[in-house]
Amino acid sequence: MTIQALKGFKDILPDEARLWQHIEATARDILHRFGFTEIRVPILEKTELFARSIGEATDIVEKEMYSFTDRNGDSISMRPEGTAPVLRAFIEHGLQTRLPVQRLYTLGPMFRHERPQKGRLRQFHQLSIEVLGLDHPRLDAELIAMAWLILEELGLSTSLQINSLGCQACRPAYKAALVDFLSSRQDLICEDCQRRSQSNPLRVLDCKSSHCQEQYETAPAILDHLCPDCAGHFSQTKTSLELLAVPYAVNPFMVRGLDYYTRTTFELITDALGAQSAVGAGGRYDGLVAQLGGAKNMPGIGFALGLERLVLLLGQQNADACPETTTDLFVAALGEEATVKAFPLVHLLRRQGLRVAMDLEGKSLKSQMKQADRACARFVLILGAEELARGEAVLRDMTSKEQQTLPLAGEPEAVCARLIETITTKEP
Ligand code: ATP
Ligand code: MG
Repeated sequence: MTIQALKGFKDILPDEARLWQHIEATARDILHRFGFTEIRVPILEKTELFARSIGEATDIVEKEMYSFTDRNGDSISMRPEGTAPVLRAFIEHGLQTRLPVQRLYTLGPMFRHERPQKGRLRQFHQLSIEVLGLDHPRLDAELIAMAWLILEELGLSTSLQINSLGCQACRPAYKAALVDFLSSRQDLICEDCQRRSQSNPLRVLDCKSSHCQEQYETAPAILDHLCPDCAGHFSQTKTSLELLAVPYAVNPFMVRGLDYYTRTTFELITDALGAQSAVGAGGRYDGLVAQLGGAKNMPGIGFALGLERLVLLLGQQNADACPETTTDLFVAALGEEATVKAFPLVHLLRRQGLRVAMDLEGKSLKSQMKQADRACARFVLILGAEELARGEAVLRDMTSKEQQTLPLAGEPEAVCARLIETITTKEP
Protein backbone atom coordinates (compact mmCIF):
# COMPACT_ATOMS: atom_id res chain seq x y z
CA MET A 1 0.00 0.00 0.00
CA THR A 2 1.31 3.41 -0.92
CA ILE A 3 0.93 6.29 1.50
CA GLN A 4 -1.04 9.33 0.43
CA ALA A 5 -1.14 12.89 1.70
CA LEU A 6 -3.67 13.76 4.40
CA LYS A 7 -7.13 14.85 3.31
CA GLY A 8 -7.16 18.62 2.79
CA PHE A 9 -3.36 18.74 2.51
CA LYS A 10 -2.08 19.28 -0.98
CA ASP A 11 1.17 18.94 -2.85
CA ILE A 12 2.03 21.86 -5.10
CA LEU A 13 3.54 20.25 -8.18
CA PRO A 14 6.14 21.98 -10.37
CA ASP A 15 3.67 23.22 -13.02
CA GLU A 16 1.54 24.88 -10.39
CA ALA A 17 4.52 26.14 -8.41
CA ARG A 18 5.21 28.54 -11.31
CA LEU A 19 1.87 30.23 -10.66
CA TRP A 20 2.66 30.43 -6.95
CA GLN A 21 6.02 32.05 -7.59
CA HIS A 22 4.46 34.54 -9.97
CA ILE A 23 1.78 35.51 -7.43
CA GLU A 24 4.29 35.78 -4.60
CA ALA A 25 6.75 37.86 -6.64
CA THR A 26 4.01 40.22 -7.87
CA ALA A 27 2.62 40.70 -4.36
CA ARG A 28 6.02 41.21 -2.73
CA ASP A 29 6.96 43.80 -5.33
CA ILE A 30 3.76 45.77 -4.66
CA LEU A 31 4.14 45.42 -0.88
CA HIS A 32 7.64 46.89 -1.10
CA ARG A 33 6.29 49.81 -3.16
CA PHE A 34 3.92 50.52 -0.25
CA GLY A 35 6.70 50.39 2.35
CA PHE A 36 6.00 46.95 3.83
CA THR A 37 8.68 44.68 5.27
CA GLU A 38 8.50 40.97 5.85
CA ILE A 39 8.21 39.30 9.22
CA ARG A 40 8.34 35.51 9.68
CA VAL A 41 6.63 33.95 12.66
CA PRO A 42 6.33 30.36 13.95
CA ILE A 43 3.66 27.91 12.84
CA LEU A 44 3.02 26.71 16.40
CA GLU A 45 1.79 29.05 19.13
CA LYS A 46 0.14 28.72 22.52
CA THR A 47 -3.56 27.90 22.00
CA GLU A 48 -4.43 30.81 24.29
CA LEU A 49 -3.09 33.30 21.72
CA PHE A 50 -5.81 32.35 19.25
CA ALA A 51 -8.56 31.92 21.84
CA ARG A 52 -7.87 35.44 23.11
CA SER A 53 -7.66 37.11 19.70
CA ILE A 54 -9.90 35.27 17.23
CA GLY A 55 -12.48 34.62 19.98
CA GLU A 56 -13.72 31.54 21.87
CA ALA A 57 -17.12 31.43 20.16
CA THR A 58 -15.90 31.41 16.56
CA ASP A 59 -15.86 28.49 14.09
CA ILE A 60 -12.09 28.65 13.98
CA VAL A 61 -11.48 28.32 17.71
CA GLU A 62 -14.52 26.15 18.47
CA LYS A 63 -14.00 23.47 15.86
CA GLU A 64 -11.29 24.14 13.30
CA MET A 65 -7.97 24.44 15.12
CA TYR A 66 -5.30 21.77 15.11
CA SER A 67 -4.64 21.85 18.84
CA PHE A 68 -2.76 19.34 20.92
CA THR A 69 -0.95 18.92 24.17
CA ASP A 70 2.81 18.77 23.68
CA ARG A 71 5.26 16.67 25.68
CA ASN A 72 5.37 19.28 28.45
CA GLY A 73 1.60 19.24 28.82
CA ASP A 74 1.14 22.71 27.25
CA SER A 75 -1.79 23.33 24.91
CA ILE A 76 -0.39 24.25 21.51
CA SER A 77 -2.07 25.08 18.18
CA MET A 78 -1.03 25.23 14.59
CA ARG A 79 -1.76 28.78 13.49
CA PRO A 80 -5.14 29.14 11.75
CA GLU A 81 -4.31 32.70 10.63
CA GLY A 82 -1.41 35.13 10.65
CA THR A 83 -2.54 38.25 12.49
CA ALA A 84 -2.36 36.94 16.06
CA PRO A 85 1.21 35.57 15.73
CA VAL A 86 2.43 38.77 14.05
CA LEU A 87 0.88 40.90 16.79
CA ARG A 88 2.34 38.61 19.45
CA ALA A 89 5.78 39.16 17.88
CA PHE A 90 5.15 42.91 17.53
CA ILE A 91 4.37 43.18 21.25
CA GLU A 92 7.05 40.71 22.41
CA HIS A 93 9.85 42.53 20.58
CA GLY A 94 8.59 46.07 21.20
CA LEU A 95 8.58 46.88 17.49
CA GLN A 96 6.53 50.06 17.98
CA THR A 97 9.48 51.70 19.72
CA ARG A 98 11.51 51.45 16.51
CA LEU A 99 8.98 53.01 14.18
CA PRO A 100 5.67 54.62 15.14
CA VAL A 101 3.84 52.95 12.25
CA GLN A 102 4.77 49.39 11.39
CA ARG A 103 3.88 47.92 8.00
CA LEU A 104 4.40 44.18 8.11
CA TYR A 105 3.59 41.18 5.96
CA THR A 106 4.03 37.48 6.33
CA LEU A 107 3.42 34.61 3.96
CA GLY A 108 2.97 30.97 4.79
CA PRO A 109 0.78 27.99 5.61
CA MET A 110 -2.26 28.18 7.90
CA PHE A 111 -4.21 25.23 9.31
CA ARG A 112 -7.95 24.80 9.81
CA HIS A 113 -9.83 21.52 10.14
CA GLU A 114 -12.57 22.36 7.62
CA ARG A 115 -14.42 20.23 5.08
CA PRO A 116 -12.01 20.11 2.13
CA GLN A 117 -13.39 21.19 -1.26
CA LYS A 118 -12.29 23.29 -4.21
CA GLY A 119 -10.55 26.34 -2.78
CA ARG A 120 -10.93 25.11 0.80
CA LEU A 121 -8.13 23.09 2.34
CA ARG A 122 -6.91 22.14 5.78
CA GLN A 123 -3.45 23.44 5.08
CA PHE A 124 -3.73 26.60 3.00
CA HIS A 125 -1.55 29.64 2.46
CA GLN A 126 -2.14 33.25 3.25
CA LEU A 127 -0.35 36.44 2.46
CA SER A 128 -1.15 38.29 5.66
CA ILE A 129 -0.66 42.03 5.92
CA GLU A 130 -0.79 44.26 9.00
CA VAL A 131 -0.35 47.96 9.73
CA LEU A 132 0.02 48.95 13.37
CA GLY A 133 0.01 52.39 14.93
CA LEU A 134 -2.41 54.46 12.84
CA ASP A 135 -6.19 54.72 12.84
CA HIS A 136 -6.70 57.28 10.07
CA PRO A 137 -9.36 56.20 7.53
CA ARG A 138 -6.99 57.13 4.71
CA LEU A 139 -4.90 54.13 5.78
CA ASP A 140 -7.95 51.84 5.47
CA ALA A 141 -8.41 53.06 1.89
CA GLU A 142 -4.70 52.82 1.08
CA LEU A 143 -4.59 49.22 2.26
CA ILE A 144 -7.73 48.22 0.37
CA ALA A 145 -6.35 49.94 -2.74
CA MET A 146 -3.14 47.96 -2.35
CA ALA A 147 -5.08 44.67 -2.19
CA TRP A 148 -6.96 45.81 -5.28
CA LEU A 149 -3.70 46.62 -7.06
CA ILE A 150 -2.26 43.17 -6.31
CA LEU A 151 -5.30 41.54 -7.95
CA GLU A 152 -5.19 44.02 -10.82
CA GLU A 153 -1.51 43.37 -11.58
CA LEU A 154 -2.23 39.64 -11.51
CA GLY A 155 -4.90 40.28 -14.13
CA LEU A 156 -7.70 39.01 -11.86
CA SER A 157 -11.12 40.56 -11.68
CA THR A 158 -12.95 40.52 -8.36
CA SER A 159 -15.40 42.78 -6.60
CA LEU A 160 -14.92 44.62 -3.34
CA GLN A 161 -17.40 44.73 -0.46
CA ILE A 162 -16.91 46.95 2.56
CA ASN A 163 -18.67 47.49 5.86
CA SER A 164 -18.10 48.99 9.26
CA LEU A 165 -18.57 46.99 12.45
CA GLY A 166 -18.44 49.99 14.76
CA CYS A 167 -16.55 50.11 18.05
CA GLN A 168 -16.89 49.44 21.80
CA ALA A 169 -19.12 52.51 22.03
CA CYS A 170 -21.72 51.69 19.39
CA ARG A 171 -21.63 47.95 18.91
CA PRO A 172 -23.39 46.99 22.20
CA ALA A 173 -26.57 48.87 21.22
CA TYR A 174 -26.54 47.22 17.80
CA LYS A 175 -25.93 43.83 19.40
CA ALA A 176 -28.96 44.36 21.62
CA ALA A 177 -31.14 45.24 18.61
CA LEU A 178 -29.89 42.17 16.77
CA VAL A 179 -30.48 39.87 19.76
CA ASP A 180 -34.02 41.23 19.94
CA PHE A 181 -34.55 40.48 16.28
CA LEU A 182 -33.07 36.98 16.59
CA SER A 183 -35.12 36.03 19.63
CA SER A 184 -38.28 36.47 17.56
CA ARG A 185 -36.94 34.08 14.92
CA GLN A 186 -35.36 31.24 16.89
CA ASP A 187 -37.50 28.55 15.25
CA LEU A 188 -36.57 29.73 11.73
CA ILE A 189 -32.78 29.62 12.03
CA CYS A 190 -30.26 26.80 12.27
CA GLU A 191 -28.99 25.32 15.54
CA ASP A 192 -25.63 27.04 15.26
CA CYS A 193 -27.35 30.39 14.84
CA GLN A 194 -29.71 29.70 17.74
CA ARG A 195 -26.74 29.04 19.99
CA ARG A 196 -24.81 32.03 18.68
CA SER A 197 -27.78 34.34 19.15
CA GLN A 198 -26.62 34.25 22.76
CA SER A 199 -22.87 33.65 22.63
CA ASN A 200 -21.87 35.75 19.61
CA PRO A 201 -24.90 37.30 17.90
CA LEU A 202 -23.05 39.21 15.14
CA ARG A 203 -21.62 35.96 13.85
CA VAL A 204 -25.04 34.62 12.87
CA LEU A 205 -25.01 37.05 9.92
CA ASP A 206 -21.99 35.11 8.60
CA CYS A 207 -23.95 31.80 8.54
CA LYS A 208 -23.52 29.90 5.29
CA SER A 209 -27.11 28.51 5.28
CA SER A 210 -29.40 30.14 2.72
CA HIS A 211 -32.44 29.62 5.01
CA CYS A 212 -30.78 31.68 7.69
CA GLN A 213 -29.64 34.28 5.17
CA GLU A 214 -33.25 34.74 4.02
CA GLN A 215 -34.25 35.58 7.58
CA TYR A 216 -31.40 38.03 8.02
CA GLU A 217 -32.41 40.13 5.03
CA THR A 218 -34.68 42.09 7.35
CA ALA A 219 -32.29 42.15 10.33
CA PRO A 220 -31.21 45.51 11.75
CA ALA A 221 -28.08 46.81 10.02
CA ILE A 222 -24.97 47.88 11.91
CA LEU A 223 -24.53 50.92 9.67
CA ASP A 224 -27.73 52.40 11.12
CA HIS A 225 -26.25 52.10 14.62
CA LEU A 226 -22.74 53.57 14.20
CA CYS A 227 -21.67 56.28 16.66
CA PRO A 228 -20.67 59.63 15.11
CA ASP A 229 -16.94 58.76 15.28
CA CYS A 230 -17.41 55.44 13.51
CA ALA A 231 -19.81 56.92 10.98
CA GLY A 232 -17.25 59.65 10.22
CA HIS A 233 -14.47 57.08 9.91
CA PHE A 234 -16.52 54.97 7.52
CA SER A 235 -17.54 57.94 5.44
CA GLN A 236 -13.90 59.11 5.12
CA THR A 237 -12.82 55.59 4.19
CA LYS A 238 -15.34 55.62 1.34
CA THR A 239 -14.31 59.08 0.12
CA SER A 240 -10.65 58.05 0.19
CA LEU A 241 -11.43 54.91 -1.82
CA GLU A 242 -13.17 57.12 -4.37
CA LEU A 243 -10.07 59.35 -4.55
CA LEU A 244 -8.07 56.25 -5.44
CA ALA A 245 -10.71 55.12 -7.95
CA VAL A 246 -11.28 51.78 -6.22
CA PRO A 247 -14.84 50.59 -6.93
CA TYR A 248 -16.64 49.21 -3.87
CA ALA A 249 -20.06 48.06 -2.74
CA VAL A 250 -21.29 48.51 0.83
CA ASN A 251 -22.56 45.28 2.39
CA PRO A 252 -24.04 46.13 5.82
CA PHE A 253 -24.38 42.42 6.72
CA MET A 254 -20.76 41.48 6.19
CA VAL A 255 -19.32 40.45 9.54
CA ARG A 256 -16.07 38.58 9.61
CA GLY A 257 -15.31 35.13 10.98
CA LEU A 258 -12.98 36.53 13.62
CA ASP A 259 -14.11 38.51 16.66
CA TYR A 260 -11.34 41.07 16.74
CA TYR A 261 -12.56 43.34 13.97
CA THR A 262 -13.70 46.92 14.61
CA ARG A 263 -14.85 49.58 12.15
CA THR A 264 -13.79 48.91 8.54
CA THR A 265 -14.05 45.36 7.22
CA PHE A 266 -13.78 44.26 3.63
CA GLU A 267 -13.82 41.23 1.36
CA LEU A 268 -12.62 40.67 -2.19
CA ILE A 269 -15.17 38.44 -3.84
CA THR A 270 -15.26 36.34 -6.98
CA ASP A 271 -18.11 34.32 -8.47
CA ALA A 272 -15.69 32.02 -10.29
CA LEU A 273 -14.89 29.63 -7.42
CA GLY A 274 -18.32 28.39 -6.38
CA ALA A 275 -19.05 28.67 -2.67
CA GLN A 276 -15.47 29.73 -1.91
CA SER A 277 -16.14 33.30 -2.96
CA ALA A 278 -13.64 35.31 -0.92
CA VAL A 279 -10.10 35.53 -2.26
CA GLY A 280 -9.12 37.96 0.44
CA ALA A 281 -10.54 39.68 3.46
CA GLY A 282 -9.62 41.85 6.36
CA GLY A 283 -10.38 44.84 8.48
CA ARG A 284 -9.48 47.09 11.34
CA TYR A 285 -8.76 45.65 14.80
CA ASP A 286 -8.13 48.64 17.04
CA GLY A 287 -8.49 46.79 20.35
CA LEU A 288 -6.49 43.69 19.52
CA VAL A 289 -3.01 44.78 20.59
CA ALA A 290 -4.36 45.76 24.01
CA GLN A 291 -6.32 42.49 24.21
CA LEU A 292 -3.05 40.61 23.72
CA GLY A 293 -1.35 42.56 26.48
CA GLY A 294 0.32 45.24 24.35
CA ALA A 295 -0.03 49.03 24.37
CA LYS A 296 -3.47 50.31 25.32
CA ASN A 297 -4.06 52.59 22.35
CA MET A 298 -2.41 50.78 19.47
CA PRO A 299 -4.70 50.72 16.45
CA GLY A 300 -4.24 48.15 13.74
CA ILE A 301 -5.64 47.02 10.44
CA GLY A 302 -4.87 44.11 8.16
CA PHE A 303 -6.02 41.64 5.56
CA ALA A 304 -5.14 38.26 4.17
CA LEU A 305 -5.17 36.94 0.63
CA GLY A 306 -5.87 33.23 0.17
CA LEU A 307 -3.14 32.01 -2.16
CA GLU A 308 -4.83 28.73 -3.22
CA ARG A 309 -7.83 30.70 -4.45
CA LEU A 310 -5.60 33.17 -6.29
CA VAL A 311 -3.81 30.25 -7.97
CA LEU A 312 -7.16 28.75 -9.04
CA LEU A 313 -8.32 32.11 -10.40
CA LEU A 314 -5.05 32.76 -12.18
CA GLY A 315 -5.30 29.35 -13.84
CA GLN A 316 -8.85 30.19 -14.97
CA GLN A 317 -8.61 33.86 -15.84
CA ASN A 318 -5.04 34.51 -16.85
CA ALA A 319 -3.25 31.25 -17.63
CA ASP A 320 -0.66 33.02 -19.82
CA ALA A 321 0.43 35.24 -16.93
CA CYS A 322 3.65 33.33 -16.46
CA PRO A 323 5.13 31.54 -19.46
CA GLU A 324 7.17 28.44 -18.70
CA THR A 325 10.76 29.26 -17.85
CA THR A 326 12.91 27.86 -20.63
CA THR A 327 16.41 26.52 -20.70
CA ASP A 328 18.86 28.86 -22.44
CA LEU A 329 21.15 26.09 -23.55
CA PHE A 330 21.23 22.31 -23.59
CA VAL A 331 24.74 20.90 -23.89
CA ALA A 332 24.59 17.55 -25.67
CA ALA A 333 27.93 15.83 -25.11
CA LEU A 334 28.15 12.42 -26.78
CA GLY A 335 30.28 9.79 -25.10
CA GLU A 336 32.59 9.89 -22.12
CA GLU A 337 35.40 12.08 -23.46
CA ALA A 338 33.07 14.83 -24.65
CA THR A 339 31.09 14.67 -21.43
CA VAL A 340 34.24 15.18 -19.34
CA LYS A 341 35.03 18.25 -21.46
CA ALA A 342 31.48 19.61 -21.27
CA PHE A 343 30.95 19.07 -17.54
CA PRO A 344 33.11 22.00 -16.26
CA LEU A 345 32.00 24.17 -19.19
CA VAL A 346 28.36 23.80 -18.13
CA HIS A 347 29.27 24.74 -14.56
CA LEU A 348 31.05 27.85 -15.84
CA LEU A 349 28.07 28.86 -17.96
CA ARG A 350 25.76 28.47 -14.97
CA ARG A 351 28.11 30.63 -12.90
CA GLN A 352 27.76 33.24 -15.64
CA GLY A 353 23.99 33.23 -15.13
CA LEU A 354 22.78 31.01 -17.97
CA ARG A 355 20.12 28.36 -17.50
CA VAL A 356 21.95 25.31 -18.76
CA ALA A 357 21.04 21.63 -18.82
CA MET A 358 23.14 18.62 -19.79
CA ASP A 359 22.96 14.84 -19.74
CA LEU A 360 25.51 13.70 -17.19
CA GLU A 361 25.85 10.25 -18.74
CA GLY A 362 26.70 11.25 -22.33
CA LYS A 363 23.80 9.30 -23.87
CA SER A 364 23.00 9.07 -27.60
CA LEU A 365 22.28 12.18 -29.71
CA LYS A 366 18.70 11.06 -30.25
CA SER A 367 18.04 10.71 -26.53
CA GLN A 368 19.66 14.06 -25.74
CA MET A 369 17.74 15.94 -28.44
CA LYS A 370 14.55 14.59 -26.85
CA GLN A 371 15.71 15.87 -23.47
CA ALA A 372 16.51 19.27 -25.00
CA ASP A 373 12.99 19.46 -26.44
CA ARG A 374 11.43 18.55 -23.13
CA ALA A 375 13.49 21.25 -21.42
CA CYS A 376 12.29 23.80 -24.04
CA ALA A 377 15.93 24.63 -24.73
CA ARG A 378 16.51 27.74 -26.83
CA PHE A 379 19.91 26.46 -28.11
CA VAL A 380 21.65 23.11 -28.15
CA LEU A 381 25.44 22.77 -28.20
CA ILE A 382 26.40 19.42 -29.72
CA LEU A 383 29.77 18.00 -28.72
CA GLY A 384 30.33 14.75 -30.63
CA ALA A 385 33.50 12.71 -31.01
CA GLU A 386 34.09 14.03 -34.55
CA GLU A 387 33.54 17.65 -33.58
CA LEU A 388 35.81 17.17 -30.60
CA ALA A 389 38.57 15.79 -32.84
CA ARG A 390 38.30 18.94 -34.98
CA GLY A 391 38.35 21.14 -31.83
CA GLU A 392 34.86 22.48 -32.39
CA ALA A 393 31.21 22.07 -31.44
CA VAL A 394 27.92 22.63 -33.26
CA LEU A 395 25.50 25.24 -31.98
CA ARG A 396 21.90 24.67 -33.03
CA ASP A 397 19.27 27.40 -32.80
CA MET A 398 16.12 25.47 -31.81
CA THR A 399 13.78 28.19 -33.08
CA SER A 400 15.25 28.82 -36.55
CA LYS A 401 16.86 25.33 -36.76
CA GLU A 402 20.06 27.01 -38.05
CA GLN A 403 23.39 25.42 -37.12
CA GLN A 404 26.85 26.88 -36.91
CA THR A 405 30.20 25.58 -35.74
CA LEU A 406 31.93 27.07 -32.76
CA PRO A 407 35.68 26.69 -32.04
CA LEU A 408 36.53 25.08 -28.69
CA ALA A 409 40.14 26.32 -28.66
CA GLY A 410 41.56 28.14 -25.63
CA GLU A 411 40.75 28.21 -21.93
CA PRO A 412 37.21 27.16 -20.84
CA GLU A 413 36.58 30.82 -19.83
CA ALA A 414 37.29 31.95 -23.41
CA VAL A 415 35.06 29.21 -24.87
CA CYS A 416 32.34 30.19 -22.44
CA ALA A 417 32.63 33.92 -23.35
CA ARG A 418 32.46 33.13 -27.10
CA LEU A 419 29.43 30.96 -26.60
CA ILE A 420 27.57 33.57 -24.55
CA GLU A 421 28.37 36.24 -27.15
CA THR A 422 27.08 34.09 -30.00
CA ILE A 423 23.89 33.23 -28.13
CA THR A 424 23.11 36.78 -27.03
CA THR A 425 23.51 38.22 -30.54
CA LYS A 426 20.96 35.66 -31.73
CA GLU A 427 18.37 36.31 -28.98
CA PRO A 428 15.32 38.12 -30.31
P1 ATP B 1 -14.31 31.72 4.14
O1 ATP B 1 -15.52 32.57 4.32
O2 ATP B 1 -14.06 31.34 2.72
O3 ATP B 1 -14.27 30.56 5.09
P2 ATP B 1 -12.78 33.20 6.04
O4 ATP B 1 -13.65 34.33 6.37
O5 ATP B 1 -12.70 32.06 6.98
O6 ATP B 1 -13.09 32.65 4.55
P3 ATP B 1 -10.28 34.57 6.57
O7 ATP B 1 -10.06 33.89 7.84
O8 ATP B 1 -10.62 35.99 6.58
O9 ATP B 1 -11.33 33.74 5.69
O10 ATP B 1 -9.01 34.34 5.61
C1 ATP B 1 -8.72 35.19 4.50
C2 ATP B 1 -8.66 34.41 3.21
O11 ATP B 1 -7.99 33.19 3.36
C3 ATP B 1 -10.02 34.00 2.66
O12 ATP B 1 -10.61 35.06 1.97
C4 ATP B 1 -9.66 32.85 1.77
O13 ATP B 1 -9.23 33.33 0.50
C5 ATP B 1 -8.52 32.21 2.48
N1 ATP B 1 -8.97 31.01 3.21
C6 ATP B 1 -9.58 30.96 4.42
N2 ATP B 1 -9.81 29.69 4.78
C7 ATP B 1 -9.32 28.90 3.79
C8 ATP B 1 -9.24 27.48 3.57
N3 ATP B 1 -9.69 26.62 4.47
N4 ATP B 1 -8.67 27.04 2.42
C9 ATP B 1 -8.19 27.90 1.51
N5 ATP B 1 -8.22 29.25 1.66
C10 ATP B 1 -8.78 29.75 2.78
MG1 MG C 1 -13.74 30.23 7.09
